[in-house]
Amino acid sequence: MKATSLTSLRTSKASKTPRSLHLFGRDLRLDDNAGLAEAARFGDVVPAHLVEAELLERADRNPRRAAYYCGAVSSLAGALETRGARLIVRSDASPDGIARLATDAGATTVTWASAYDAATLARQRARRSALEARGFAVAVVHDAPAVAPEETAAARSARGHGYRALVPFVTTWATQPRRPVAARIAFARASLYSDPLPALAAPAVASAGTEAPSERAAVAGLDAFLGGPVLQYASARDVPGGAPTARISAALSFGVIAARTVLARVDERARDPFLLTEERLALGAFARALARRDFFLQLAWFYEDAPDRGLQARMDGFALGTDHPALAAWRAGRTGYPLVDAGMRELRATGWMHPRARLVAASFLCFDLAVDWRIGRDAWDDDLIEDEPALANGNWQWVAGIGADLAQFPRIYNPHKQLRTYDPLGTYVKKYVTELSGLPDVAPANGPASAQRQLSLALFDDRRYPAPVVEHAGAARAYLARYAAFSRANGTTR
Ligand SMILES: Cc1cc2nc3c(=O)[nH]c(=O)nc-3n(C[C@H](O)[C@H](O)[C@H](O)COP(=O)(O)OP(=O)(O)OC[C@H]3O[C@@H](n4cnc5c(N)ncnc54)[C@H](O)[C@@H]3O)c2cc1C
Repeated sequence: MKATSLTSLRTSKASKTPRSLHLFGRDLRLDDNAGLAEAARFGDVVPAHLVEAELLERADRNPRRAAYYCGAVSSLAGALETRGARLIVRSDASPDGIARLATDAGATTVTWASAYDAATLARQRARRSALEARGFAVAVVHDAPAVAPEETAAARSARGHGYRALVPFVTTWATQPRRPVAARIAFARASLYSDPLPALAAPAVASAGTEAPSERAAVAGLDAFLGGPVLQYASARDVPGGAPTARISAALSFGVIAARTVLARVDERARDPFLLTEERLALGAFARALARRDFFLQLAWFYEDAPDRGLQARMDGFALGTDHPALAAWRAGRTGYPLVDAGMRELRATGWMHPRARLVAASFLCFDLAVDWRIGRDAWDDDLIEDEPALANGNWQWVAGIGADLAQFPRIYNPHKQLRTYDPLGTYVKKYVTELSGLPDVAPANGPASAQRQLSLALFDDRRYPAPVVEHAGAARAYLARYAAFSRANGTTR
């Protein structure tokens, strides 16, 4: 280790060109990378990646996510090699470790892209202060959102508070420039010690995607989506057995592709003069999905204490269950409600769940089982490949009725009605709930009791699909009654 430092010190002293150290985090790509562009402003860039203990701990719980992360880092290292550069990997993410690395690299400036979850943000702030105290210049930039939180906030108020409501946010967001970042990056040749690339301890389980994660594969996947399926996006996001959605949440969360790049390609697609009205609307809906992502990122940025507490203080003190006799059935996809179960089984099988199924399965946990939304969020975190706590928190709070959705009462989804509306032929349900695959109709027209009778009819003993673990209408009404009583008692009714 000592010898490595001496060698690199000689390298850095010999070097006349100023250098910066860019720490790749959730921006595992070279193109349209705001942090990398910032680093290039200060000189030749030494590219590095810190294998942080916290990230490893999260990845360890979730083998598919770990595989995605390792694959993305490895692809980045490969892409750097083709540019004549080498990714320096370090497992010592302490300020001293980073300062040593920067000194060895001959860098006076350290750059990275900001995180949006409270825990990582706190670590990044401490790291910044410690490096500045050691005499380094530090530049931290927004890279994950297409539009930086401060830009939408400045349009809202002089004091720069973020938006708490989605609709006005999206209106402002749509007026902001969101061009890809273009920069000429010169990489430094630094012969520094590198730890090995992060690798999987155990062989990965089958993942949702087939190709190894890389910037190239993400862009190719996006282009294929924009070439056709996006034109049906308006229904695809609601109909789980229909046209595909973009499936780019994992790539976006690890920064394998930039949201700015995605939107630039959407805008380019929208310039096609032969688009039909519905197709243009679908492109708009897809762009708004990206706006929703920026919305939750800015919520996490401006309301940092909300992740575990809920954005709406008015519901603080409302009792949420930490357990339910059917909690294990919910996790296993055996609630007796086919759409809920298909979603949970899809997640277990692929590391991803269709957005409509997410709404219905999350609503079922929060209201039918009256279980704390944080338990659902954490359960999904064990399986989802995408890794963006700000989006998980924002969406779970939204569904639970204590986040940015300002409706007077929580929106409780009826799982049978949702099935009839969005998967009437049972295409999605039969794919994941295989016990039902032989049935002609998994979306019965009547209420839950008759639905269950019909579902059970054709099934036998060990293959039997379970009876509903709760009766939906009764459970939902009981929840609403408790909610209304709490609101009245606390004077929080709107
Ligand atoms: C209860 C619940 C929990 C969720 N947890 C997560 C999570 O942990 N991580 C995550 O990335 N998304 C989460 N979502 C949002 C959304 O379901 C996923 O982003 C989407 O399913 C990803 O698939 P896709 O890339 O095909 O999305 P598409 O529908 O093709 O959308 C494209 C991109 O837009 C963004 N987007 C779309 N919908 C949303 C949304 N509701 N909120 C924020 N961004 C959105 C995503 O980045 C997505 O990749 C959650 C939704 C719900 C209802």
